[in-house]
Amino acid sequence: MILPKVPRLSNEQAAELSAVVAEFGCKLQPIVGAVRTIYAIVGDERDELMINRIEGLDYVERVDRIQSPHKLMDRRSDLASHRIKVGGVTLGERLLVIAGQCTIDPKNPNFFYETAAAVKEAGADVIRGGVWKPRTNPYTFQGDAKSLDILMEGARRTGLPVDAEVMDETHLRLALDAGVPMLQVGARNALNYSLLRAIGAAVAGRNTVVLLKRGLHMGPLNEFISAAEYIVSFGNPNVLLCPRGTSPALDGYRNHPDESITPLLKEKTWAPVVVDPSHSVGKASYVPACALAAVAYGADGLCIESHVAPAKGIGDDPKQALTPDVLKTTITQARQLWAMRRG
Ligand code: PEP
Ligand code: MN
Repeated sequence: MILPKVPRLSNEQAAELSAVVAEFGCKLQPIVGAVRTIYAIVGDERDELMINRIEGLDYVERVDRIQSPHKLMDRRSDLASHRIKVGGVTLGERLLVIAGQCTIDPKNPNFFYETAAAVKEAGADVIRGGVWKPRTNPYTFQGDAKSLDILMEGARRTGLPVDAEVMDETHLRLALDAGVPMLQVGARNALNYSLLRAIGAAVAGRNTVVLLKRGLHMGPLNEFISAAEYIVSFGNPNVLLCPRGTSPALDGYRNHPDESITPLLKEKTWAPVVVDPSHSVGKASYVPACALAAVAYGADGLCIESHVAPAKGIGDDPKQALTPDVLKTTITQARQLWAMRRG
């Protein structure tokens, strides 16, 4: 729908607009109101270039699209009936909890095995463990491919699926070859379209689940949903949307906690929302409240960093990780709240 700046377009302006939409196989249909005429685009209005050409005309205020730019992720898509299953949980039927270390320490694998067992005991369904890490400081520990073996050994010992972030195509290949069932796209790579496409192509035809974090600087919802569309467009619809706080930060929190985005996402897309309260607030003492807020806002799952001995952890663990006992209370309360929410 085209909303002009003027109450009615001149004949020349209408002819110019008609010519633009005709180039893209569409027709212009005026809808005459008492004070203003607006113009419907009849045909497939999803072509970005057509919209940009129209919005570039100086007599056009804006174009409101009726068709969704993300046709597979849209709530009205046939995929809306698709159910994602992971760790014995069907998303939407029970609160999914992913928990574990931010970063696996390859020098101390026992910490990971102990943490994996403890988070399982606390009620987690999936164990997380960072193998390769996106670190702001290039001189800090960047992860180690050796941790992949530790991750998979943790999966074997607990019998639970594991989740690890991949930052490039080499990680992607190694993780898939090792049998990692859940791949994480981090906040820094959520807008890395070549990686999203590579992941989409690599997981097509597999049961792999992708946990897509919300980008650090993402603004409009469509940006987040369209990033998921990149992956799903290759054929595997197992994508979980993971708000994890965006910039700018609130004074005191690591990021701006964005769990309140959940109901907005749910109006637009069928995809389950799994909130990461750990990176949102960045401090262990604030994480439980953020986790519960996320569930109150409608989250289908949580991704929480936890460590048996946070002070001895690496990466974010000394600051953010919950001890397993705090994790257990948080999971119990979160599941109670989830049940209350469902009524
Ligand atoms: C993480 O999960 O440890 C991580 C680095 O996440 P994010 O991409 O959200 O910062
Ligand atoms: Mn982390």
